[in-house]
Amino acid sequence: MYHQDTIAAIATSSKDGSISVIRISGSQSVSMVAGIFFHRGGQPYPLSDCSSHTIHYGYIGPDGDNVMDEVLVLIMRGPRSYTAEDVVEIQCHGGYMICQKILELLMERGARIAEPGEFTKRAFLNGRIDLTQAESVMDLIRAGSDIAWKNSFSQLRGSVKNKIEELRSMILEDTAYLEAGLDDPEHISLEDFSPRIREHTDFLKSELDHLLQNSQNGRLIREGIRTAIIGKPNVGKSSFLNCILRSDRAIVTDIPGTTRDTLEEEIRIGSMLFRFIDTAGIRQTDDLIENMGIQKAKEELEQADLVICIIDSGSELEPEDLYVLEQAKELPGVILYNKIDLPSVTGLEKIPVSADKKIIPFSAVTGEGLEELERYINELFIENRIHYNDEIYITNARQKESLADALESLCQLWESIETGMPEDLYTIDLVNAYEALGRIIGETIEDDLADKIFKDFCMGK
Ligand code: GDP
Repeated sequence: MYHQDTIAAIATSSKDGSISVIRISGSQSVSMVAGIFFHRGGQPYPLSDCSSHTIHYGYIGPDGDNVMDEVLVLIMRGPRSYTAEDVVEIQCHGGYMICQKILELLMERGARIAEPGEFTKRAFLNGRIDLTQAESVMDLIRAGSDIAWKNSFSQLRGSVKNKIEELRSMILEDTAYLEAGLDDPEHISLEDFSPRIREHTDFLKSELDHLLQNSQNGRLIREGIRTAIIGKPNVGKSSFLNCILRSDRAIVTDIPGTTRDTLEEEIRIGSMLFRFIDTAGIRQTDDLIENMGIQKAKEELEQADLVICIIDSGSELEPEDLYVLEQAKELPGVILYNKIDLPSVTGLEKIPVSADKKIIPFSAVTGEGLEELERYINELFIENRIHYNDEIYITNARQKESLADALESLCQLWESIETGMPEDLYTIDLVNAYEALGRIIGETIEDDLADKIFKDFCMGK
């Protein structure tokens, strides 16, 4: 065990709730809680004699005559606990004051307030989980869509760790065989080694390449699909956003930091999360202020994964509409032929086929076309790009970087094999790849990196 001190924190949300949970971890956790836990009549509760994974009903207070809340206490002795240390959880009535009072009692008995993520950090340092599992914990808590939840949960259960370990053990075997052959050429022949390492390197390269390709979609899973809504002024961009944000929808949050020119909203559609960005109307103008908004809209477009171009069916198609479609040419997306509740002036056939996007007749006022749009954009990603099965999608930038390092070493190894370099040169690339993969699972980790990773965690996690 790495830690001797006992830590405590409120593990539940700070908002009002019916119950709150205070979590305590460390060698003194059971005895500390035993000192403040009493039977109904005020007699001390012999918690230290109780077996692991049991629940106890009683009262919390500085002594048996001054109890402050009626609680349930759960004991989980290490290593069968979240941190792999002795963990006690106190379920008290929800509320800031009660939790603070209980925490104060624990502090008086020598506990220290846990840092954000410190419970998970201990689980990692005590070897119960690897770094990819630790990193998945906050992704799971913050998951904003089915697919994000499914992906982070599979990572928590070890999908990334197992894959990385499988690849590492292959590299390790080859390295060991190679070193043995180099050390003892009389008994271990490297003759068969070349075809074998060729095959393995090819396999490892393609596995890493696949993981890296998938990780492009990892960002879409974790952060949502950036969807720019574009169109000339007054075509109904804001009305469309209001229409798709209908109040019976799931998560709808304002993103802080958006400029006055763009508005960003998060919406769950099907199993994916979409971030809709309402841009300023795009058109060619000499107006300086308006131009700034247009510039911003173009920047949004550059970063977008998906575009929704809106055309007003109630007015003539103008060069400005064509300009909008031109701007969106490179991106997957749809053209919303909006305001179909009004008599049509544009005519669908006037929309250039070269725009190469599905056209959906739409009304932001009546909601017509909304279901078709939602189904279509969800399908554009699910099954087309993201398979809702056991694929591994790396969503974490740190993990991605190490994957790329490992791949680079294997490419160098491949180069050495292809150019017939001597075998003793292979070791260095094999070891580099092995170490880069080791960084993903946190086999070696410096303190400042660990601090950086865990500081973004919630309190009590
Ligand atoms: P934006 O400048 O592109 O954001 O356009 P707005 O959303 O502000 O809409 C401009 C005007 O068109 C407003 O008066 C809206 O009420 C109206 N509008 C938007 N969508 C529709 C629609 O589908 N049908 C009708 N009849 N009016 C619409």
